Amino acid sequence: MASQAQALVQRGPFRAEIEDLPIPALAPGAALVRVEANGLCATDIDAYAGEDPSARARLGDRRFPRIPGHEIVGIVEDLGPRTLKRKDLEIGTRVAVNPMIACGVCEFCQRGQTTLCRGFEFFPCYGTIPLWHEHGLWGGYSTYVYVHPNATLYPFPHEVSALDATLWNTLSAGVQWAVMTGGVSLGTTVLVLGSGQRGLANVVASRSVGAGLVITTGLTADRHKLDLALELGADAVIDVESESTVDRVLELTGGRGVDVVVDTTPHATAPISDALDVLRPGGRIVLAGIKSRLMDGFPVDKLVTRGVTMIGATSQSTDANAAAAKLVAAAAVPLHKMRTHVVGYDELPYAIDLLTNKVPGEKAINVVVTPTIGGGH
Ligand SMILES: [Zn+2]
Ligand SMILES: [Zn+2]
Repeated sequence: MASQAQALVQRGPFRAEIEDLPIPALAPGAALVRVEANGLCATDIDAYAGEDPSARARLGDRRFPRIPGHEIVGIVEDLGPRTLKRKDLEIGTRVAVNPMIACGVCEFCQRGQTTLCRGFEFFPCYGTIPLWHEHGLWGGYSTYVYVHPNATLYPFPHEVSALDATLWNTLSAGVQWAVMTGGVSLGTTVLVLGSGQRGLANVVASRSVGAGLVITTGLTADRHKLDLALELGADAVIDVESESTVDRVLELTGGRGVDVVVDTTPHATAPISDALDVLRPGGRIVLAGIKSRLMDGFPVDKLVTRGVTMIGATSQSTDANAAAAKLVAAAAVPLHKMRTHVVGYDELPYAIDLLTNKVPGEKAINVVVTPTIGGGH
Protein backbone atom coordinates (compact mmCIF):
# COMPACT_ATOMS: atom_id res chain seq x y z
CA MET A 1 0.00 0.00 0.00
CA ALA A 2 1.16 3.53 -0.75
CA SER A 3 2.89 5.37 2.10
CA GLN A 4 2.52 8.85 0.63
CA ALA A 5 -0.29 10.91 -0.81
CA GLN A 6 0.16 13.56 -3.47
CA ALA A 7 -2.06 16.43 -2.42
CA LEU A 8 -2.82 19.94 -3.62
CA VAL A 9 -1.90 21.98 -0.55
CA GLN A 10 -3.38 25.47 -0.28
CA ARG A 11 -1.18 27.80 1.81
CA GLY A 12 -3.28 30.96 1.34
CA PRO A 13 -5.67 32.67 -1.09
CA PHE A 14 -4.84 31.66 -4.69
CA ARG A 15 -1.73 29.74 -3.52
CA ALA A 16 -1.74 25.96 -3.97
CA GLU A 17 0.82 23.39 -5.07
CA ILE A 18 1.09 19.62 -5.20
CA GLU A 19 3.06 18.22 -2.23
CA ASP A 20 3.90 14.75 -0.90
CA LEU A 21 2.33 13.99 2.47
CA PRO A 22 2.58 10.86 4.62
CA ILE A 23 -0.45 8.61 4.76
CA PRO A 24 -1.20 8.35 8.49
CA ALA A 25 -2.01 5.23 10.49
CA LEU A 26 -5.78 4.87 10.73
CA ALA A 27 -7.46 5.47 14.09
CA PRO A 28 -10.15 3.06 15.31
CA GLY A 29 -13.31 3.66 13.30
CA ALA A 30 -11.54 5.58 10.53
CA ALA A 31 -11.03 4.60 6.87
CA LEU A 32 -8.81 5.56 3.96
CA VAL A 33 -10.27 6.34 0.55
CA ARG A 34 -8.25 6.43 -2.68
CA VAL A 35 -9.68 9.48 -4.40
CA GLU A 36 -10.90 9.16 -7.98
CA ALA A 37 -12.81 12.38 -8.60
CA ASN A 38 -14.36 15.48 -7.04
CA GLY A 39 -17.14 17.80 -8.07
CA LEU A 40 -16.37 21.53 -8.24
CA CYS A 41 -18.83 24.11 -6.92
CA ALA A 42 -19.05 27.79 -5.94
CA THR A 43 -17.85 26.90 -2.43
CA ASP A 44 -14.56 25.62 -3.90
CA ILE A 45 -14.16 28.76 -5.97
CA ASP A 46 -14.71 31.02 -2.96
CA ALA A 47 -12.43 28.91 -0.74
CA TYR A 48 -9.58 29.07 -3.29
CA ALA A 49 -9.87 32.87 -3.10
CA GLY A 50 -9.82 32.67 0.73
CA GLU A 51 -13.50 33.75 0.85
CA ASP A 52 -14.63 31.12 3.33
CA PRO A 53 -16.44 32.88 6.20
CA SER A 54 -17.26 29.70 8.16
CA ALA A 55 -13.65 28.48 8.26
CA ARG A 56 -12.20 31.96 8.76
CA ALA A 57 -14.56 32.76 11.65
CA ARG A 58 -13.24 29.77 13.61
CA LEU A 59 -9.53 29.75 12.78
CA GLY A 60 -8.58 33.00 11.00
CA ASP A 61 -5.28 32.53 9.17
CA ARG A 62 -4.75 29.20 10.95
CA ARG A 63 -7.25 27.69 8.48
CA PHE A 64 -4.24 27.27 6.16
CA PRO A 65 -2.53 25.12 5.01
CA ARG A 66 -5.27 22.77 3.90
CA ILE A 67 -6.23 20.45 1.04
CA PRO A 68 -9.22 21.77 -0.94
CA GLY A 69 -11.97 19.58 -2.39
CA HIS A 70 -15.16 18.45 -0.65
CA GLU A 71 -17.28 16.60 -3.23
CA ILE A 72 -15.24 13.41 -2.99
CA VAL A 73 -15.68 10.04 -4.69
CA GLY A 74 -13.18 7.18 -4.44
CA ILE A 75 -12.50 3.59 -3.49
CA VAL A 76 -12.28 2.34 0.11
CA GLU A 77 -8.60 1.37 0.39
CA ASP A 78 -8.25 0.50 4.06
CA LEU A 79 -10.24 0.35 7.29
CA GLY A 80 -8.90 1.33 10.72
CA PRO A 81 -8.82 -1.13 13.64
CA ARG A 82 -12.28 -1.91 14.97
CA THR A 83 -13.93 0.04 12.13
CA LEU A 84 -17.40 -1.45 12.10
CA LYS A 85 -18.21 -3.42 8.99
CA ARG A 86 -20.93 -1.33 7.46
CA LYS A 87 -23.46 -2.70 5.03
CA ASP A 88 -22.26 -2.56 1.42
CA LEU A 89 -19.03 -1.01 2.60
CA GLU A 90 -15.90 -3.03 2.21
CA ILE A 91 -12.41 -2.52 0.89
CA GLY A 92 -12.80 -1.95 -2.84
CA THR A 93 -16.25 -0.33 -2.65
CA ARG A 94 -16.73 2.92 -4.56
CA VAL A 95 -18.09 5.56 -2.18
CA ALA A 96 -18.94 9.23 -1.87
CA VAL A 97 -17.79 10.99 1.30
CA ASN A 98 -20.27 13.22 3.12
CA PRO A 99 -18.33 16.49 3.30
CA MET A 100 -19.76 17.42 6.69
CA ILE A 101 -18.43 15.65 9.80
CA ALA A 102 -20.78 15.75 12.78
CA CYS A 103 -19.46 15.56 16.36
CA GLY A 104 -22.61 13.75 17.46
CA VAL A 105 -22.81 15.38 20.89
CA CYS A 106 -23.26 19.15 20.49
CA GLU A 107 -26.68 20.78 20.88
CA PHE A 108 -27.37 20.73 17.13
CA CYS A 109 -26.21 17.14 16.57
CA GLN A 110 -28.41 16.01 19.45
CA ARG A 111 -31.37 17.67 17.73
CA GLY A 112 -30.51 15.82 14.51
CA GLN A 113 -29.43 19.08 12.81
CA THR A 114 -25.98 17.69 12.06
CA THR A 115 -25.28 20.17 9.24
CA LEU A 116 -25.28 22.91 11.89
CA CYS A 117 -22.76 21.06 14.15
CA ARG A 118 -20.73 23.36 16.42
CA GLY A 119 -18.74 20.62 18.15
CA PHE A 120 -15.30 21.13 16.57
CA GLU A 121 -12.71 23.89 16.85
CA PHE A 122 -12.58 23.97 13.04
CA PHE A 123 -15.43 24.21 10.51
CA PRO A 124 -16.09 20.46 10.08
CA CYS A 125 -16.25 20.27 6.30
CA TYR A 126 -13.81 18.41 4.06
CA GLY A 127 -11.73 20.84 2.03
CA THR A 128 -11.52 23.39 4.85
CA ILE A 129 -10.01 21.45 7.79
CA PRO A 130 -6.34 22.45 8.19
CA LEU A 131 -3.43 20.13 7.56
CA TRP A 132 -2.20 20.58 11.12
CA HIS A 133 -5.31 18.94 12.52
CA GLU A 134 -4.47 15.33 13.26
CA HIS A 135 -4.32 13.02 10.21
CA GLY A 136 -4.07 15.95 7.75
CA LEU A 137 -5.61 14.42 4.63
CA TRP A 138 -8.90 16.32 4.87
CA GLY A 139 -9.43 17.30 1.24
CA GLY A 140 -10.36 15.58 -2.00
CA TYR A 141 -7.66 17.20 -4.17
CA SER A 142 -5.32 14.46 -3.08
CA THR A 143 -4.66 10.89 -4.09
CA TYR A 144 -5.90 9.74 -0.65
CA VAL A 145 -8.34 11.14 1.87
CA TYR A 146 -8.72 10.29 5.56
CA VAL A 147 -12.25 9.32 6.57
CA HIS A 148 -13.07 10.50 10.09
CA PRO A 149 -14.82 7.88 12.28
CA ASN A 150 -17.90 10.15 12.36
CA ALA A 151 -17.97 10.74 8.59
CA THR A 152 -20.67 9.10 6.49
CA LEU A 153 -19.85 7.18 3.32
CA TYR A 154 -22.39 6.41 0.59
CA PRO A 155 -21.69 3.27 -1.46
CA PHE A 156 -22.32 2.93 -5.19
CA PRO A 157 -22.96 -0.25 -7.18
CA HIS A 158 -19.87 -1.33 -9.09
CA GLU A 159 -21.31 -0.40 -12.49
CA VAL A 160 -21.60 3.30 -11.60
CA SER A 161 -18.41 5.01 -12.83
CA ALA A 162 -16.44 7.39 -10.62
CA LEU A 163 -17.27 10.31 -12.91
CA ASP A 164 -21.01 9.59 -12.81
CA ALA A 165 -20.88 9.00 -9.05
CA THR A 166 -19.42 12.48 -8.63
CA LEU A 167 -22.77 13.96 -9.70
CA TRP A 168 -24.12 12.73 -6.38
CA ASN A 169 -23.22 15.95 -4.58
CA THR A 170 -24.88 18.17 -7.18
CA LEU A 171 -28.01 16.03 -7.13
CA SER A 172 -28.13 16.09 -3.37
CA ALA A 173 -28.78 19.83 -3.55
CA GLY A 174 -31.83 19.06 -5.71
CA VAL A 175 -33.10 16.43 -3.30
CA GLN A 176 -32.56 18.72 -0.31
CA TRP A 177 -33.81 22.02 -1.71
CA ALA A 178 -36.76 20.97 -3.91
CA VAL A 179 -37.97 17.79 -2.21
CA MET A 180 -36.97 17.96 1.46
CA THR A 181 -36.97 21.71 2.11
CA GLY A 182 -39.46 22.72 -0.62
CA GLY A 183 -41.85 19.80 -0.13
CA VAL A 184 -42.11 18.98 -3.85
CA SER A 185 -44.00 15.69 -4.27
CA LEU A 186 -46.47 13.95 -6.59
CA GLY A 187 -48.31 16.55 -8.66
CA THR A 188 -46.52 19.65 -7.29
CA THR A 189 -45.95 22.52 -9.72
CA VAL A 190 -42.46 23.93 -9.35
CA LEU A 191 -40.39 26.76 -10.79
CA VAL A 192 -36.61 26.37 -10.56
CA LEU A 193 -34.83 29.71 -10.97
CA GLY A 194 -31.42 29.22 -12.57
CA SER A 195 -30.14 26.40 -14.77
CA GLY A 196 -26.59 25.85 -13.53
CA GLN A 197 -25.71 22.40 -12.22
CA ARG A 198 -27.70 23.01 -9.00
CA GLY A 199 -30.72 24.28 -10.95
CA LEU A 200 -30.64 21.22 -13.21
CA ALA A 201 -30.32 19.01 -10.11
CA ASN A 202 -33.54 20.55 -8.77
CA VAL A 203 -35.26 19.75 -12.06
CA VAL A 204 -34.09 16.10 -11.87
CA ALA A 205 -35.06 15.72 -8.21
CA SER A 206 -38.50 17.31 -8.74
CA ARG A 207 -39.18 15.06 -11.71
CA SER A 208 -38.01 11.96 -9.82
CA VAL A 209 -40.71 12.42 -7.15
CA GLY A 210 -43.48 12.97 -9.69
CA ALA A 211 -43.84 16.76 -9.80
CA GLY A 212 -46.79 17.77 -11.98
CA LEU A 213 -45.09 20.65 -13.81
CA VAL A 214 -41.41 21.62 -13.77
CA ILE A 215 -40.30 24.95 -15.23
CA THR A 216 -36.79 26.36 -15.18
CA THR A 217 -35.17 29.66 -16.17
CA GLY A 218 -31.85 30.80 -17.62
CA LEU A 219 -30.05 33.54 -19.52
CA THR A 220 -29.75 33.62 -23.31
CA ALA A 221 -26.15 32.42 -22.92
CA ASP A 222 -27.52 29.43 -20.97
CA ARG A 223 -29.35 28.00 -23.99
CA HIS A 224 -27.34 24.74 -23.77
CA LYS A 225 -28.34 24.41 -20.11
CA LEU A 226 -32.01 25.07 -20.91
CA ASP A 227 -31.92 22.45 -23.68
CA LEU A 228 -30.41 19.98 -21.22
CA ALA A 229 -33.08 20.88 -18.64
CA LEU A 230 -35.73 19.76 -21.15
CA GLU A 231 -33.84 16.51 -21.69
CA LEU A 232 -33.58 15.95 -17.93
CA GLY A 233 -37.31 16.36 -17.37
CA ALA A 234 -38.31 20.04 -17.38
CA ASP A 235 -41.70 20.65 -19.04
CA ALA A 236 -40.89 24.22 -20.02
CA VAL A 237 -37.90 26.58 -19.96
CA ILE A 238 -37.83 30.38 -19.90
CA ASP A 239 -35.08 32.59 -21.34
CA VAL A 240 -35.39 35.48 -18.87
CA GLU A 241 -33.70 37.90 -21.27
CA SER A 242 -36.21 37.42 -24.06
CA GLU A 243 -39.45 36.73 -22.17
CA SER A 244 -41.12 37.67 -18.89
CA THR A 245 -40.78 34.96 -16.24
CA VAL A 246 -43.95 36.13 -14.51
CA ASP A 247 -46.11 36.21 -17.67
CA ARG A 248 -44.84 32.84 -18.87
CA VAL A 249 -45.31 31.03 -15.55
CA LEU A 250 -48.83 32.41 -15.15
CA GLU A 251 -49.61 31.32 -18.71
CA LEU A 252 -48.22 27.82 -18.09
CA THR A 253 -50.24 27.45 -14.87
CA GLY A 254 -53.53 28.91 -16.18
CA GLY A 255 -53.07 32.03 -14.01
CA ARG A 256 -52.82 30.05 -10.75
CA GLY A 257 -49.09 30.20 -10.14
CA VAL A 258 -46.79 27.44 -8.91
CA ASP A 259 -46.76 25.63 -5.56
CA VAL A 260 -43.00 25.90 -5.02
CA VAL A 261 -40.18 28.13 -6.25
CA VAL A 262 -36.53 27.13 -5.74
CA ASP A 263 -34.09 30.00 -6.32
CA THR A 264 -30.60 28.81 -7.20
CA THR A 265 -29.42 32.02 -8.88
CA PRO A 266 -26.29 33.66 -7.46
CA HIS A 267 -26.11 37.44 -6.86
CA ALA A 268 -29.36 38.52 -8.60
CA THR A 269 -32.22 39.55 -6.32
CA ALA A 270 -34.83 40.26 -9.04
CA PRO A 271 -35.75 36.54 -9.22
CA ILE A 272 -37.00 36.74 -5.62
CA SER A 273 -39.49 39.47 -6.60
CA ASP A 274 -40.53 37.40 -9.60
CA ALA A 275 -41.00 34.39 -7.33
CA LEU A 276 -43.49 36.26 -5.15
CA ASP A 277 -45.49 37.16 -8.27
CA VAL A 278 -45.72 33.60 -9.60
CA LEU A 279 -46.33 31.69 -6.37
CA ARG A 280 -49.86 30.55 -5.58
CA PRO A 281 -51.26 31.78 -2.25
CA GLY A 282 -49.82 29.63 0.53
CA GLY A 283 -46.90 28.53 -1.64
CA ARG A 284 -43.28 28.12 -0.63
CA ILE A 285 -40.04 29.77 -1.76
CA VAL A 286 -36.72 28.02 -1.09
CA LEU A 287 -33.76 30.42 -1.20
CA ALA A 288 -30.50 28.66 -2.03
CA GLY A 289 -28.54 31.16 -4.12
CA ILE A 290 -26.04 33.28 -2.19
CA LYS A 291 -26.62 36.96 -3.09
CA SER A 292 -23.71 38.69 -1.30
CA ARG A 293 -25.89 41.82 -1.14
CA LEU A 294 -28.99 43.23 0.53
CA MET A 295 -32.28 43.45 -1.35
CA ASP A 296 -33.87 46.88 -1.76
CA GLY A 297 -37.64 47.16 -2.04
CA PHE A 298 -38.43 43.72 -0.63
CA PRO A 299 -42.21 43.26 -1.07
CA VAL A 300 -43.04 42.24 2.50
CA ASP A 301 -46.78 42.75 2.02
CA LYS A 302 -46.94 40.12 -0.72
CA LEU A 303 -45.40 37.63 1.66
CA VAL A 304 -47.88 38.53 4.40
CA THR A 305 -51.11 38.83 2.43
CA ARG A 306 -50.50 35.68 0.39
CA GLY A 307 -49.39 33.55 3.34
CA VAL A 308 -46.16 32.60 1.63
CA THR A 309 -43.43 30.55 3.34
CA MET A 310 -39.86 31.62 2.60
CA ILE A 311 -37.05 29.37 3.78
CA GLY A 312 -33.27 29.40 3.41
CA ALA A 313 -31.51 26.18 2.46
CA THR A 314 -27.93 25.44 3.42
CA SER A 315 -25.89 22.26 3.05
CA GLN A 316 -27.46 18.89 2.45
CA SER A 317 -28.62 16.44 5.10
CA THR A 318 -27.36 12.88 5.36
CA ASP A 319 -30.75 11.68 4.11
CA ALA A 320 -30.57 13.93 1.04
CA ASN A 321 -27.05 12.67 0.26
CA ALA A 322 -28.14 9.03 0.57
CA ALA A 323 -31.19 9.59 -1.65
CA ALA A 324 -29.06 11.40 -4.24
CA ALA A 325 -26.55 8.52 -4.37
CA LYS A 326 -29.46 6.17 -5.10
CA LEU A 327 -30.79 8.55 -7.76
CA VAL A 328 -27.40 8.50 -9.50
CA ALA A 329 -27.30 4.71 -9.38
CA ALA A 330 -30.85 4.47 -10.79
CA ALA A 331 -29.86 6.77 -13.70
CA ALA A 332 -33.39 7.24 -15.06
CA VAL A 333 -32.26 10.29 -17.06
CA PRO A 334 -28.97 11.00 -18.90
CA LEU A 335 -27.33 12.72 -15.93
CA HIS A 336 -23.87 12.29 -17.45
CA LYS A 337 -24.76 14.98 -19.98
CA MET A 338 -24.37 17.52 -17.16
CA ARG A 339 -20.65 16.71 -17.01
CA THR A 340 -18.88 18.92 -19.52
CA HIS A 341 -15.23 18.84 -18.36
CA VAL A 342 -12.78 16.65 -16.43
CA VAL A 343 -9.65 18.47 -15.22
CA GLY A 344 -6.53 17.33 -13.32
CA TYR A 345 -6.16 18.64 -9.75
CA ASP A 346 -2.91 20.37 -10.70
CA GLU A 347 -5.02 22.70 -12.87
CA LEU A 348 -7.51 23.98 -10.31
CA PRO A 349 -7.39 27.61 -11.57
CA TYR A 350 -8.29 26.39 -15.07
CA ALA A 351 -11.16 24.29 -13.68
CA ILE A 352 -12.43 27.39 -11.84
CA ASP A 353 -12.19 29.50 -15.01
CA LEU A 354 -14.19 26.85 -16.84
CA LEU A 355 -16.97 26.75 -14.25
CA THR A 356 -17.19 30.55 -14.13
CA ASN A 357 -17.38 30.77 -17.94
CA LYS A 358 -14.07 32.57 -18.34
CA VAL A 359 -12.64 30.21 -20.96
CA PRO A 360 -13.67 31.41 -24.44
CA GLY A 361 -15.45 28.78 -26.49
CA GLU A 362 -16.11 26.46 -23.53
CA LYS A 363 -19.60 26.00 -22.12
CA ALA A 364 -19.27 24.35 -18.74
CA ILE A 365 -22.06 22.94 -16.58
CA ASN A 366 -20.44 20.34 -14.30
CA VAL A 367 -16.65 20.25 -13.94
CA VAL A 368 -14.88 17.28 -12.33
CA VAL A 369 -11.48 17.70 -10.64
CA THR A 370 -9.45 14.52 -10.37
CA PRO A 371 -6.09 13.49 -8.92
CA THR A 372 -5.85 10.59 -11.35
CA ILE A 373 -5.09 12.67 -14.41
CA GLY A 374 -2.90 15.75 -14.62
CA GLY A 375 -0.96 18.00 -16.88
CA GLY A 376 -2.29 19.71 -19.97
CA HIS A 377 -5.89 20.27 -20.98
ZN1 LIG B 1 -19.79 21.81 -3.13
ZN1 LIG C 1 -22.11 18.43 16.65
